[in-house]
Amino acid sequence: MSLKGKKFHIHTFGCQMNENDSEHVAGMLSSRGAHSSPSPELSDIVIINTCAVREKSEEKFFSLLGRLESIKKKKNLVIGAIGCIAQLYKSQLRDKKSSIDFIVGPNNYDKIPDIITHYWEEKITCTQWNRGWKEFSPSDIQRKNPTSGYVTIMRGCNNFCSYCIVPFTRGRERYRPMDYIIQEVHKLADQGYKEIQLLGQNVNSYRDPSTGRDFASLLEEVDRIPNIEWIRFLTSHPKNFTPRLAHTMKKSRKICRQLHLPLQSGSTSVLKRMNRKYSRENYLKLVGILKDLMKGISLSTDIIVGYPGETEDEFQQTLSLLNTVKYTNIFSFRYSPRPLTPASKLPDSVPFETKKKRLIKLQNEQKKIQIEKNKSFIGKTLKVLCLGRSKKDSSIYSGRNEGYQVVNFQSSSDVVGQFVPVKITQCGPYSLFGESVD
Ligand code: SF4
Repeated sequence: MSLKGKKFHIHTFGCQMNENDSEHVAGMLSSRGAHSSPSPELSDIVIINTCAVREKSEEKFFSLLGRLESIKKKKNLVIGAIGCIAQLYKSQLRDKKSSIDFIVGPNNYDKIPDIITHYWEEKITCTQWNRGWKEFSPSDIQRKNPTSGYVTIMRGCNNFCSYCIVPFTRGRERYRPMDYIIQEVHKLADQGYKEIQLLGQNVNSYRDPSTGRDFASLLEEVDRIPNIEWIRFLTSHPKNFTPRLAHTMKKSRKICRQLHLPLQSGSTSVLKRMNRKYSRENYLKLVGILKDLMKGISLSTDIIVGYPGETEDEFQQTLSLLNTVKYTNIFSFRYSPRPLTPASKLPDSVPFETKKKRLIKLQNEQKKIQIEKNKSFIGKTLKVLCLGRSKKDSSIYSGRNEGYQVVNFQSSSDVVGQFVPVKITQCGPYSLFGESVD
């Protein structure tokens, strides 16, 4: 059965890589004549792009599935689960009396249109691994943002951090040929994109499959592409962050003075148990190099509290590191065991209440740091890339500064998609507010 005229809705959980994958799935379905729809109720096909990194995202997936099941009782609806949960629980999801009609793992998204087309005749699931790089057709993408574009450069991860499910759900590292990446960035530049974000689980282990050229070389190539003004990349593993890469950032006028550098814990003993392969001292040394090379660089991070065996003293080391680095932003989580991981075989020894208290303490400490940092911007004029209008108030514009902070601002003209000088007049812990001054 043809996809022509069918309406689809994709709900995406998780990281920017999932967002970019969903953009590709939307593009493939659209090129077969289907149309994207704003809600499951108005759709013929609903695809849930899932994330298994934390227990919470898993819970959200099952709750959404429950909602879709009730819609399905009232109308014909094809439900697909794709992404990490699909890969992880493929048998259970298929065997359970669930309403999921097809299941596709992260390496098989190119098959989704055919799977849906055949679904009406036979139920197909598809989760095989593929070791090489699989390129989407350049036309098969429907991007959500017309100004800032995601460009995936690698998939999978070889690091096996003890708590992380990604190597089990996304497989080993596969690198996209550099030529394809460059072509995609050129295309984005031609379409008027101002910013690109290079994506991968561990971008700084990138190697061009045929020449072996590294991530710093890729950045140098991307830096030469005209009309792209801001370049960002994530995620960087501190153990793979070479001095050469730091100098490449410094030399470029386009690579933003901003970096997401996941810490996970400020205690060397916890980092060792997490199999992170760097110490507190190595991490701080790297931060020192980056701050020396690029004054005012904006750093963000990920932190897990309550990893098995984390003592109060080890937690205090994380708190003290927070105050040393002074991140612009953090993403912090209570540890939750994930299936298949080595950490899940350890007793989850930190009581839930202790994890909860540590998380609150960490977040409060960070909030104070952010308020202080954000206050220092008041009165300054920042270059902001306007990405759209504020979700809360459509008369307000919203964008990001070079440090990747949210900046909401007033402007007398429509500036969506443009760089705007914004004078900061107010701030909260999580965003800045100002007025355009052009
Ligand atoms: S580097 Fe570690 S935390 Fe990041 S995806 Fe790989 S295994 Fe997971």
